[in-house]
Formats: sequence, C-alpha cells, structure tokens
Amino acid sequence: MCGIVAYKGKKDCYPILLSGLKKLEYRGYDSAGVASIINNKINITKRAGKVKELENAINSKKSSQNCGGLGIAHTRWATHGEPNQKNAHPHLDQSKKISLVHNGIIENYDPIKKFLKSKKITFKSDTDTEVLVQLIGYFYNKGKLDFEQSVRAALQRVDGAYGIVVLNVDFPEMMIAARRGSPLVLGIKEGEFFIGSDISPIVSYTQQIIYLNDSEMAVINKNNYQIKSVEKDVALPKKVEKIDYKIDDFDKGKFKHFMHKEIHEQVTTIGNTLKARSTKNSVLLHGLSEYWEEIQSADKIYITACGTSWHAGLIGKNLIERFAKVPVHVEYASEFRYNHSIIDNKTVVIAISQSGETADTLAAIAKANDYGAITIGICNVPGSSVSRETKCGVHTRCGHEIGVASTKAFTAQITVLYFFALKLADSKKTMTKSVMKKYLDLSMWPKYMDDIKSVLKKEKSIKKIAEKYQNASDFLYLGRGLNFPVALEGALKLKEISYIHAEGYPAAEMKHGPIALVDKNMPNVFIVPKDKTYDKIISNIEEIKSRKGKIIIVTDSRDKILRDLADDLILVPKTTHYMFVILATIVLQLFSYFIAVAKGCDVDQPRNLAKSVTVE
Ligand code: GLU
Repeated sequence: MCGIVAYKGKKDCYPILLSGLKKLEYRGYDSAGVASIINNKINITKRAGKVKELENAINSKKSSQNCGGLGIAHTRWATHGEPNQKNAHPHLDQSKKISLVHNGIIENYDPIKKFLKSKKITFKSDTDTEVLVQLIGYFYNKGKLDFEQSVRAALQRVDGAYGIVVLNVDFPEMMIAARRGSPLVLGIKEGEFFIGSDISPIVSYTQQIIYLNDSEMAVINKNNYQIKSVEKDVALPKKVEKIDYKIDDFDKGKFKHFMHKEIHEQVTTIGNTLKARSTKNSVLLHGLSEYWEEIQSADKIYITACGTSWHAGLIGKNLIERFAKVPVHVEYASEFRYNHSIIDNKTVVIAISQSGETADTLAAIAKANDYGAITIGICNVPGSSVSRETKCGVHTRCGHEIGVASTKAFTAQITVLYFFALKLADSKKTMTKSVMKKYLDLSMWPKYMDDIKSVLKKEKSIKKIAEKYQNASDFLYLGRGLNFPVALEGALKLKEISYIHAEGYPAAEMKHGPIALVDKNMPNVFIVPKDKTYDKIISNIEEIKSRKGKIIIVTDSRDKILRDLADDLILVPKTTHYMFVILATIVLQLFSYFIAVAKGCDVDQPRNLAKSVTVE
C-alpha cells in the first residue's frame, strides 16, 4: 500500500530516500515524509501531496545539504486519518527520541491509545501508526528495556498488519525494521543497508536481498545486521538472495506514462511466457511439479484473487473447465476468507496476485492451507508473500509493473492460466493429442506476437475514438463467454484511470436491468469475436441500437452487418479464442488510457488507489 524506504551507510541519505520514494510513489501517494538524525535530534520533514512537494520542501531547507547516513522515508496511502501533513509519516514518540514509518493497520490502536493517554501521553495525529511509535517510546522511556526490546515489546502487543522501520536518537548507528502482513525487503552492500517495501528503491544500489518473512525483524547496527524473531530474542538463519531485475523496469523510456509503456511491453511479456512455458508437445510449469500428482487428481479448483487478478481468474475458470473438465469456482479473496467454501486436501486453490502481497489474497491462502488444500500461487514478484506461502506456484515474470492500473500482469496471468489448463487437460487426458498439438503449435507464437504488434499500431485510431467519448458519464462493456471477463476488465480499467462510471456485463444479461440506463448519450462497448455466440451478440447489439445507445465494437470479423451497426469499430486480426481475449484486452487498455489522457487524469497514480493493497 504505502511505500517505505530507509538507508544506513556513509552517503547523505536524503537523495537516496527521495529517489526511492519516487520509485515507490505508485504504492501510495497522498503524502510523504522523511526523518533522519542530525545533531542528536530527529529531523522530520513531511508534506501532504506527492513526493515532489516533499522534495521542494527539503530543497528549500538549508539542512538538506547533508543529513547524515541514516534515514527513513514514507509515501502514504491513508487508512486512519485524513491525508494531510500532520498525519503523514514519519511519526514521533512523545520524547521525540523515536521515529517510525509504518505500512499497514494497527487494528487495536484504540485500547492502546486509551492506555497511553492514561499515562499522560498526548497524540499529535489521527493515525493508528502514532499509537505504535508512542508505545515503543513508552516502553523505552520507562528505562527497563533497550531499544530493540522496546520495539519487540510493542510489536507483541499490536494486532493487525505492519511493515515498520524505526530510528532512535540514542542509537544513531541503528535502524530496526519488522514486518507482519506488509512486505519489507532488506538490501545489503559493503557498509550500506537499504530497506524498501519492494525492491524498486534498492535495485540500483545492490542486488543482494533478504525478503523478511512475517514476524521477523532486521536489526541493523553499525556495519552489521541480524535477522531476528519478533516473538523472542533469537537470531534466525537467513539466506541472502541475488535478484535479477532490470533497472529499465523503473524507467518510462520513450513513453509519457508507465501504463502506456507497460501496454506496449505486452508483445515481449506474452511472447516470453509463450516461449518459456511450452515445448512442441508439452507445457512447462516447473514450479508445480512437486505437487502435480495431487493437482491432477484434485476434484475441484477454487481461484481466489482481487480486482484485475480476479478477472484473470474468471478467464482461467473458462479455460480449465473447457480443456480439463474440472469444476472451478472463482471467488473474491475478501469473500473466500470468510465464506463456507468446501475445501479439503482434494481441492486446489489458485491464488492470483500481481504483487504477491495482497492482504486479502494472503488471508485466503492461509485459510486454504489450514484446510489442507493444494495451494498454488500465480504472482509476478519472486520472493513475495504469495510465492512463499503457497505450496507451489508459477511466476508471471513480466517485469515490474508500476502503472497502478494493471495491464501486462493481467495478460501474463491469463497466459499462465492458459498453459495450466492445457497441462491439466493433458494429464487428465481430456484433450486428444492432436488437439493438444494444435494448441501447442510453436510456429504460431510469432504470429501471435505480430497480431499484438498490429493492435498496438492501431493506437492512433483508438485514440481518436477514445477522445470522441471522453465526456460520457457512463459506459457499458458487454461480452460473452471468455469475453465477459474481458468486458469486466475493460470497465474496471476505465473506472480506475478516468473516473468514468463503467460496468461490465454478460452481453445478454444486459436486458435484465442495465438496459434501462441506455439512451443516446450512453456508449456501449461490445466485444464480438466470430465464435458460437456471434449471432446472439448481434441481437444484443440491435437491442441497444434500437434504444439509441452508441455502439463501439471490438471484433475480428469483417462482416458488413457489424460495420452497419457500429458507431465505431476496432478490428483485430483473426486468431484463436485465447489470443482474441488478449487482443481485445489490449484494445480496451489503450481505449481507457487515451480517455484518461484526454481528460487530463493522472494515469499512473489515479486518485484513491494504490498499487499493492496490503490492507484488508
Ligand atoms: N495506517 C497507516 C496510516 O493511515 C499507514 C497507512 C499506509 O500503509 O500508508 O497512516
């Protein structure tokens, strides 16, 4: 949700912290702040708004010249208390000795706050976070516990989720980080330490990384570090991993927005997945091999996810049921965790998350593990909580996704699910060898890539159409079968980045209510592959047309009837049903992108959203 970056080393920390915050800004961007220790005092600067505001404030202060080699910084996505300067992190304890940045929610902040107030501690902000730093300060200032013990004592008393980094003026060479539920990564270099909510602020300095697990803390002192347990004072053995991320992922290149860059990257990301996951007659999903016996004999599958990943799950359901004939249920992770699904050790639960840190999805995995299910993670971030907490899994490996509205991660998820469905069908012998061969015809991959390129080349005409509809206040997106989730995803993309109300519906279901909304001002986006529902969907278009709704069609058919019905038509190349889904999705991504740009919206950081939703 929010972004945390911290540094300890010999360099001036501010440039490192500020450039780190800019890279993390996609995670939360309502306010930002930094704290460092200067002349035995904690020096804090914070501002409401974007990191730029903070940078201007720091640059206008003289003290910014050199702020020492120890500092913590935060970009916030408010959960408790308005997004203003006083609620921005870092927060201080009453003695002004201890400062903390926090990602997550302290659920029992209220009773702790009452307790601390009874001890004459006064609060400066409305946040749940301040309660935690005051509690650490309370223990420390009583004098019986040292800094590390005070942090541990406080963490043992809080419920909820946290990723924190703490400083203490009495220990100007020390920094303590800890996590439960919210991600934290430690980067290590000769004499330097970096902490980040993810690797983006770290990767340009070092590739030596430790991913903290839940209930672990990193205690950094002088030139040493130890990973310890939050529960008790014991050191934990922990491997340093070498990560392999390209710095380019964090650069917009020739594009104005990350979202636009990421839409274009899909030629490569999908191409890489197709090549990496298939040979002439088999599918390669090595991450599942240890559990494949159990997976193929499971009697049902649940797919659980949130947002865009949930839409990928709906496409996965269609493909798995179609190819492998296993019943699949798709549930929002936030519902799955509290509902009454029938799960046992014959159930596969597939959890999908771009970041691998989505709080609700992690809770769903924990529940599925408790019931003995075979949990599979599909996520984009190796080392993330989803990859660690599921029994096995597949990485989508499409590079860091920075635009808040997911694009390339979605199509990578679909591609992985496509291969999963094929592999399962192969094992269960629900597909003949000759049909399988058709699906794994490697000579088709270059054509698929060319088809994506040709859709991207249409962006000028898609832009024109988008600009025409930029002032609409509501949209309907309509598709059937595999393309119903594409409609949902198209509508979600539009809502997320242009703030236009949009709804996705199965095209025929539209008659049961939403059609009441249709008038001459309402654009209706139809996704129309030439498949078995083609004739039916044409009738659905006629139904809207006769109520004067505007018709935008995305299709692979050159039929005149569609051109006659459409106010605007976007033609994609003739292809398979799987690839049509990808091509139509890319058209709709570009369509929302250009509407948002035309409306002057902040495409990469839409209001109220954050990239990785690490709170419930
Ligand atoms: N709950 C904290 C707050 O509202 C932290 C939010 C965040 O993760 O950015 O300040």
